[in-house]
Amino acid sequence: MAYPSDTILRKLAGTAAFERGAAYLREGRVRLLRADESGFEAQVSGSQTYQLRLQWDGEGLTAHCDCPVDAFCKHLVAGADLARRRICTHGLPG
Ligand SMILES: [Zn+2]
Repeated sequence: MAYPSDTILRKLAGTAAFERGAAYLREGRVRLLRADESGFEAQVSGSQTYQLRLQWDGEGLTAHCDCPVDAFCKHLVAGADLARRRICTHGLPG
């Protein structure tokens, strides 16, 4: 697998959460802690700061965020978007 495209992120999160995640990214609220070809960990600061991580393997996508939303939330959208740009533009960090 590879980083989820915008189309997949929108499908996972729904349009409202997708748009809010994109806004978070534009506002510079996302900090990547780790990113490689199989996933990432990040911190997103909104009303509070949340830790999140996304990973995938042959089985599919595993996503977790500390926030109370029990779904693919805007934080995961923002993190996945930034991690994908980082990986695709600059290669693997570290
Ligand atoms: Zn969240």
